[in-house]
Amino acid sequence: MSEVNPFESLQEQIDDAAAFVAVPDDALERLKRPERVLETTLSVELDDGSIETIRAFRSQFNGDRGPYKGGIRYHPQVSREEVKALSGWMVYKCAAVDIPYGGGKGGIAFDPSDYSESEIERITRAFATELRPLIGEDRDVPAPDVNTGQREMNWLKDTYETLENTTAPGVVTGKAIESGGSEGRVEATGRSVAIVAREAFDYLGGDIADATVAVQGYGNAGSVAAELIAKQGGTVVAVSDSSGAVYDPAGIDTSAAKSFKRETGSVTGFEGASEELSNRELLTLDVDLLVPAALENAIDAAIARDVRADVIVEAANGPLTPDADDVLADSEIAVFPDILANAGGVTVSYFEWVQNRQRFSWSLERVNDELETVITSAFDDLIERYEATDAPTLRTAMYAVAIERVHRAAAEAGTWP
Ligand code: GLU
Repeated sequence: MSEVNPFESLQEQIDDAAAFVAVPDDALERLKRPERVLETTLSVELDDGSIETIRAFRSQFNGDRGPYKGGIRYHPQVSREEVKALSGWMVYKCAAVDIPYGGGKGGIAFDPSDYSESEIERITRAFATELRPLIGEDRDVPAPDVNTGQREMNWLKDTYETLENTTAPGVVTGKAIESGGSEGRVEATGRSVAIVAREAFDYLGGDIADATVAVQGYGNAGSVAAELIAKQGGTVVAVSDSSGAVYDPAGIDTSAAKSFKRETGSVTGFEGASEELSNRELLTLDVDLLVPAALENAIDAAIARDVRADVIVEAANGPLTPDADDVLADSEIAVFPDILANAGGVTVSYFEWVQNRQRFSWSLERVNDELETVITSAFDDLIERYEATDAPTLRTAMYAVAIERVHRAAAEAGTWP
């Protein structure tokens, strides 16, 4: 894993796009840093009675287009710089798909697999208590991210509602259906990755149904993307997680691999594959499509030089370092950026929030239809901008679209006080 500071990567991505947008330098400076960052220390009693001290963060990057929006991750690698970057990526993601949100992100620096369920609940509720003054249905709306899901969102919502003495289901998204969640939210990130993969091959003159595919990371985003790409006819030949990769040139049963991981904790040892590979070997396989779906900085320049895929669709946030981006651009490997490809998650979060505000539930069919419309029209916006300018990469073109949208909202609001 590269040591590249993800916040510096975000700033570099914005600078790269600056040449292609009509935004004055002073206005752009503001769009490169968070409005505010909460750094807090949680003191939580463990099951053995001892007290654990854990660091936690929430960055509110930009609220010009609407409430701050973005997930909360539980991971030992969580840091102030990481949440700042992730919150910025949320701003440009929401703008790329044109949903009425700003961007935020939070995280707790711990490994939940080392803690009991009741300890994780106390840690979550302690963080929710710290977040309470900052969040709200119209202010800042957290959601799941790495190692968090419905269970954590339900606790967050319950803590907030109890302390506020109200009901406010739209204060977080990604909840269980019974607690005000939306149909289709769990699959939404993987679904947008599959939609973008399909559109990408179509645009490049191919067909996803003829593609061989490697997926790095088999969590919620990677596993669902793999299943849906396989449904579209693609052959998923390799999948991995933090313990290693499995490979089968004849194709892997993506759902069986998901069940295997659920039961054993890992894809390694999956009997439906013929070979085990290292994570690096997976990233450099000779496939048509590579889907990085784990953490940021997974592909640095050194790995990028060995990438043999023709197309990359980013399911993770920030999986390529800026240097890797340059190498891949020189090799003419088409990279469809995270802020478009994984935007399905936040898009269905938006649908969940709308349903919560309306106190009315949509069918799964409606959710998926509306998601398809949002992602394909953002894809069209990307291609239109890419073809109309000299933007060197698809990422730069997508940022140009997104930065202009954020800038317009900021400029219309004006500077006050
Ligand atoms: N954590 C997801 C992301 O990075 C979803 C955020 C949300 O639904 O607000 O896009």
